[in-house]
Amino acid sequence: MKPTPGTLYIVSAPSGAGKTSLVKALIDAEADIRVSVSHTTRAMRPGETDGVNYHFVDRATFMAKIEHGDFLEQAEVFGNLYGTSKTSLQQTLDAGQDLILEIDWQGGEQVRRLMPGMRSIFILPPSQQALRQRLKNRGQDSDEIIEGRMREAVNEMRHYVEYDYLVINDDFATALSDLKAIFRSNRLSQRLQQTRHEALLQGLLA
Ligand code: 5GP
Repeated sequence: MKPTPGTLYIVSAPSGAGKTSLVKALIDAEADIRVSVSHTTRAMRPGETDGVNYHFVDRATFMAKIEHGDFLEQAEVFGNLYGTSKTSLQQTLDAGQDLILEIDWQGGEQVRRLMPGMRSIFILPPSQQALRQRLKNRGQDSDEIIEGRMREAVNEMRHYVEYDYLVINDDFATALSDLKAIFRSNRLSQRLQQTRHEALLQGLLA
């Protein structure tokens, strides 16, 4: 029997909101959710692995992929190029798995137009003060760099209105449970349940 197709999700957040940790905890806990690995031209950070966090490529390779139409969406964020490859995206969904794209609002706008039926989630910090503190805790960045990141964060957060769901990451466990609830409730939607329980519904209505 063909599985009920998975749903495509976009998860966006300002940097420091805890998006990557939340998504990782979600996919570790849920077998039927996958996360897409993007391509980027930015340099690898300590602790990152090529092919796991991103596919790290140079600008020429990235541009060639755009030429070939390899990307579902792409955007420039803080001077680096990022893109979601079309490869395996549809296979993942057809295999019945939900797929998360961890992308910025610009990519979100493109995917919203191309993929009707997708759902979008915006993760917010509990306050500007908490976000600033998280950015400070991350490394040895100067106050000037931190303030620059804060301005970028506020610009990203202005786009929350374009998203279907808002999750506030104050307490990590609560935010994770909120995320799980979004995926679970979507699976229970009439549209997906109708496909999943076609035989049952036919029997009930006979
Ligand atoms: P970072 O370099 O800190 O991992 O990510 C910087 C920003 O780029 C984040 O807002 C992240 O969501 C976004 N980003 C990562 N991958 C993609 C992608 O494939 N497409 C788009 N549009 N944004 C991405």
